[in-house]
Amino acid sequence: MSRGKVIITGGCGYIGSHTSVELIKNKFDVVIFDDLSNSKEFIMDRIYQIAGVKPAFEKVDLSNPIEADRAYYKHSDAHSIINFAAFKAVGESVEKPILYYKNNLYTLINSIEAQKKYGIKNFIFSSSATVYGNPNRLPITESFQTKRAFSPYGNSKKIAEEILEDFSKAYPEFKTISLRYFNPIGAHESGLIGELPNGIPNNLLPYVTQCAAGVLKELQVFGNDYNTKDGTPIRDYVHVVDLAKAHVKALERLLSGNMKENYDVYNLGTGKGVTVMDIINTFEKVTKEKINYRITKRRAGDVQALFASAEKAKNNLGWEATLSLENMIETSWNWEKTFRDM
Ligand code: UDP
Repeated sequence: MSRGKVIITGGCGYIGSHTSVELIKNKFDVVIFDDLSNSKEFIMDRIYQIAGVKPAFEKVDLSNPIEADRAYYKHSDAHSIINFAAFKAVGESVEKPILYYKNNLYTLINSIEAQKKYGIKNFIFSSSATVYGNPNRLPITESFQTKRAFSPYGNSKKIAEEILEDFSKAYPEFKTISLRYFNPIGAHESGLIGELPNGIPNNLLPYVTQCAAGVLKELQVFGNDYNTKDGTPIRDYVHVVDLAKAHVKALERLLSGNMKENYDVYNLGTGKGVTVMDIINTFEKVTKEKINYRITKRRAGDVQALFASAEKAKNNLGWEATLSLENMIETSWNWEKTFRDM
C-alpha cells in the first residue's frame, strides 16, 4: 500500500534522483518538480529502471509564483515536500549573487506558500554544512552557531533555514526538517544515476574523476600548508545513497508525530575527516588510475577542517552512514566512465 504522495523539487538532480529512488523503494508515491535547468529528463527513465516505478513529473520553474502555484495545486494531495531545487555552484554564486538569491529563495518561498495554501504538512530542506562557516571546534554538532557563509550560495542556505524556522514558529501545524549535508560524493551502484556536472566541476570528486578520464588535464590541490596530517584540508565525505536514505528517515520522523519541536536540523555526515590527499591516494588505489595533480595556493574561502558529529541523526532518525570511502570512489568512477556515452 502506498504511504502517500511526496513532492520532490529538483528530483532529477544529483541528490534528488537518489532520494526519489529510495522513497519509491519505501513505497512513497513520488512526484518530481524540476525545471531541468541543471539536470536531464532521461534521469526519469533511470529512476524507473532502478526502482520499477516512473514518478510523475512536472516541468516547472518554482521561482515563478504562478507556475509554482499551478504545479502545487495539481498535487495538493501530497503530504510532504522535499526541496532540492536550487542553484549550487559556489564560484558562480559569487559572480551572480542576484541570480542565486532570487532562484534559491524565491523557489523556497513559493514552495512554503503553496504548502500553507494547500495544507501540505511536512517539509524537508536540503541545507549544507556551509552554514557553520569556519568552526572553532570539531566535530560539528547541530548546536553550533550558524554563520554568514562565504558565498551567496552558502548564505542562501543559511537564510533559507531562518525563513523555515520563522515559518514553523508562526504555523505550528507545519513540520520542517533541515538536513545539513557535509560533502556528498558517490553514485548509485547500478551506474544509472550520478552527478552530472555542468561545465568544469567545482567540487573535488568530479574534478578527480574527470582528470582520471582525461577530460581535464590536471587537478590543482588547493594548498598543502594547513595544519592537518598531510597539510591538505579535511572534509567529511558522505555517500549520496546514504544521504538519500537519510531523507526517508527524516520523512518518517516528520510523519511519526514524535518531533519535540516542529522545526529541527540534522547533520548528515560520516563523522570521519578525510584529507584531499586521502581522496587522491584512495582513488589511485581503488581504480588503479593515476591522478595528475599539482599543489597550488589555497582557494579563497576554504576552511581547514570540517567534519560532523552524526550522533543526533543516529539517535533521533536511526540513520547512520554505512558506505565506505572506497565505495564512494568506486561508484563515482563507475559513473564517470559510463555517463558520457548516454
Ligand atoms: N579541492 C581541491 N581541488 C579542487 C577542488 C577542491 O584541492 O579542484 C579541495 C578543496 O580545497 C577542499 C576539498 O577539496 O578542501 C573539497 O572541496 P569541494 O569544493 O569539493 O567541497 P567544499 O568542502 O569546499 O564545499
